[in-house]
Amino acid sequence: MKSHVKAVVIGGGVVGCSVLYHLAKAGWTDIMLIERSELTSGSSWHAAGGFHTLNGDPNVAKLQAYTVQLYKEIEEISGQSCSLHLTGGVMMADTPERMDFLRLAHAKGRYLGMDTELITPSEAKAMFPLMDEKNFVGAMWDPVEGHLDPSGTTIAYSKAAKKLGAEIVLRNRVVDLTQQPDGTWNVVTEQGTVHAEHVVNCGGLWAREIGRMVGVELPVLAMEHMYLLTEPMPEVEEFNKSTGREMIGVLDFKGEIYTRQERNGILLGTYEKACKPWSPVNTPWDFGHELLQPDIDRIAPSLEIGFKHFPGIEKAGIKQIINGPFTFALDGNPLVGPVQGLTNFWCACAVMAGFSQGGGVGLALSNWMVHGDPGFDVWGMDVARFGEWAGLRYTNAKVRENYSRRFSIRFPNEELPAARPAQTTPLYDTMLANNAVMGDSWGLETPLWFAPKGTEPKDIVSFHRSNDFGPIGEEVRATREKVGVTEIANFAKYEVSGPAAEEFLNRLMTNRMPKVGRIVLTPMVNEFGKLIGDFTIAKSGEDRFMIWGSSAAQKYHMRWFEKHLPKDGSVRIHRFDQTLVGLSIAGPKSRDLLQKLVDVDVSTKAFRFMDFREMAVGGAPCMVNRITYTGDLGYEIWMAPAYQRLVYKAIKEAGEEFGLVDFGMRALLSMRLEKNFPTWFRELRPIYGPFEGSMDRFIKLEKNDFIGREASAKEHAEGPKLRRVSFIVDAADADVMGDEPIWAKVSKDYGTVEKPHGYGAPRFDTTGKEVRGSRAAEGASAVRGIADGDWRVVGWVTSGGYAHYVQKSMAQGYVPAALAEDESAGLFEIEILGHRRPARINVEPPFDPSGEKMRT
Ligand SMILES: Cc1cc2nc3c(=O)[nH]c(=O)nc-3n(C[C@H](O)[C@H](O)[C@H](O)COP(=O)(O)OP(=O)(O)OC[C@H]3O[C@@H](n4cnc5c(N)ncnc54)[C@H](O)[C@@H]3O)c2cc1C
Repeated sequence: MKSHVKAVVIGGGVVGCSVLYHLAKAGWTDIMLIERSELTSGSSWHAAGGFHTLNGDPNVAKLQAYTVQLYKEIEEISGQSCSLHLTGGVMMADTPERMDFLRLAHAKGRYLGMDTELITPSEAKAMFPLMDEKNFVGAMWDPVEGHLDPSGTTIAYSKAAKKLGAEIVLRNRVVDLTQQPDGTWNVVTEQGTVHAEHVVNCGGLWAREIGRMVGVELPVLAMEHMYLLTEPMPEVEEFNKSTGREMIGVLDFKGEIYTRQERNGILLGTYEKACKPWSPVNTPWDFGHELLQPDIDRIAPSLEIGFKHFPGIEKAGIKQIINGPFTFALDGNPLVGPVQGLTNFWCACAVMAGFSQGGGVGLALSNWMVHGDPGFDVWGMDVARFGEWAGLRYTNAKVRENYSRRFSIRFPNEELPAARPAQTTPLYDTMLANNAVMGDSWGLETPLWFAPKGTEPKDIVSFHRSNDFGPIGEEVRATREKVGVTEIANFAKYEVSGPAAEEFLNRLMTNRMPKVGRIVLTPMVNEFGKLIGDFTIAKSGEDRFMIWGSSAAQKYHMRWFEKHLPKDGSVRIHRFDQTLVGLSIAGPKSRDLLQKLVDVDVSTKAFRFMDFREMAVGGAPCMVNRITYTGDLGYEIWMAPAYQRLVYKAIKEAGEEFGLVDFGMRALLSMRLEKNFPTWFRELRPIYGPFEGSMDRFIKLEKNDFIGREASAKEHAEGPKLRRVSFIVDAADADVMGDEPIWAKVSKDYGTVEKPHGYGAPRFDTTGKEVRGSRAAEGASAVRGIADGDWRVVGWVTSGGYAHYVQKSMAQGYVPAALAEDESAGLFEIEILGHRRPARINVEPPFDPSGEKMRT
């Protein structure tokens, strides 16, 4: 065993072996994988080996597609077969709601280049004759599904990595990790200490324990999971013989069942409601190639439905029931990337579908380690997406919820209840008393909307407009016409201070920093000129700045800030989290209201649009920004939590004479729509350039150097390929939710849809980097299913909804820039729940296009 290496990968499951392979392929060959026992000694060996590309997050779907593509390559390099069976598969809908869900998934596929098809139950039965099609209303076919040999695949990765020069050490447990002052690691193992620049946690079932070695509690938990194998079935043999094909994979949402052919019988697995965590606090180090005791009672309800839906399987004898543990994060997606606050400590764990995702995880992580950037939009699996609130018990509750809902529909207006309330502000009880429907915003309870007195504060979940529609409309109208107050504690807040603070922020941000007492809005881009942040920044003192941003991106942004912090201590950064909370008042009467609460002059001249001041509000020390996301006259008021009740009470009392109402996050998001304001993570993401994102006025290319300036200047000079635009949609009783395809009737060539994320569409060069636009260059119509006569799918929706004040259904999304800029461009349609609805580009915001109201 070497004593010094560039990187140590801990864990020889499918994920560790994939990471090792990808690092070696990217040129890091001085690397070592250390495995406690034999390869596959965690969850990898007893997996059912199924793979598919569908994922709720299109960016994760793209990495799953890459994984499937990769198997041929590792087979060739290693000489080891993965026993790939690319059978295709169907998802069966038993209700109209489930069919709506499949229509949404299929529509999304239109711009992702997916080959899915909506088919009838009878068509599905022709490919899987063991089902009783009368139980279903429809299905979606996906040709890129199948199964493989889990052990063979793990070995193939490991052999391919070894061929490229990587070392694998077996039967040697990592017992401790200690960091050196220079940021490198001593990896203490049973066989001695290895010094490494980088450490990767691919510990699978023990990832949590490895995290604890460096003082981190990772939000990951193992769950027991069962699948059964039947005796050989004559029906299966007969089908194979008569068609010359294997039976396809089937996913039955109602039964929470997946099933497929295994040899000449059937494999059937369940995600049962009565699920059970395994080793909830500590994973025993002596657990090896063992299985857990099957518990047929636990899966009996699913089996009962399964046997009704697939009567052919009920008749077969059960040969074996496998029960094994595997890990999940809170939302079922992996935890990948560098851990904020640590140097050179990387994660690739909580990979619940190692055979669908392992390749993509390995590629993204190796890109990140070798090139400093994952090369894709990996937010959906970034380890930074959860905060400190996701501790052991929170994780336990959330993972159980996620597991038991694996095949349940998540409606766009559905808030999930497990582990709540976690964090609350001092106004929580008051908001409940006000009949607020609360939502979870990065672990914090936040008012979404206020139900009318005497009605139950509860969402009726739906893909269509629901019971919040009327009340949100009231909140918006009262705010726009009088004044409203809302909680904004869920924004991220930071303070950057020190003699080099301004220089630091100028280097990170695309806009110029403001003068003392003034505010700017500014995006942040990476070296590749892609959007990685969008902030409000106030200069609150000579060497002091206050920053507000997206709540969910707090760790993601802290990681970036810390990476660029000068080593000499000339800049300090502090994340407030819930030690600073806020309230926003907005609407034409908001200034009169504020004036009653303060002892300073807040008239237009004295306190201008985009001004920042520290002042006492209702007697409490506060920071006040003259700015609001509603796009109206308004203020954001920030205070220590101890003062929040005082300030709220003062606002309510003083507001009475102006007709003040409470409004929630949904009204706020509705109001931002009619101002064409973007949101972080929907419109603005690391797959778009700042000019593509229509953030032009915040990009100061003439300013001194900022990170990504060169790439941004190039985008500007060449012209953005895409443009974020806003649409008014002729919707019926459902508005867009995000990810819907945008169709256009085009008579000329506007260039094709260059999909920044997609399935099958991206190409990867030999270093594993995506070659953007290669599929697009073949022409949009080359992608099956996205052309229909003169109509083409030309883009995708990022978000939208109903803009209540202007009474219009609105959507934002991306289309080719040439099309966005052509005023004579023809007609648009946006596909909502399978129906194409007329839409038109709306250049000026429908509410207060000149911005006069917020400036007066
Ligand atoms: C019953 C069942 C069915 C499944 N079906 C499917 C399926 O159909 N499709 C699919 O994609 N996935 C399936 N899975 C999930 C799949 O098994 C996991 O996604 C995958 O195995 C995760 O791999 P991993 O490498 O992250 O973790 P693991 O396989 O758990 O590997 C972690 C490795 O790290 C080693 N290790 C841990 N700590 C240390 C240490 N301190 N020092 C040295 N070595 C250490 C362990 O010994 C182990 O070998 C299934 C799982 C189960 C249990």
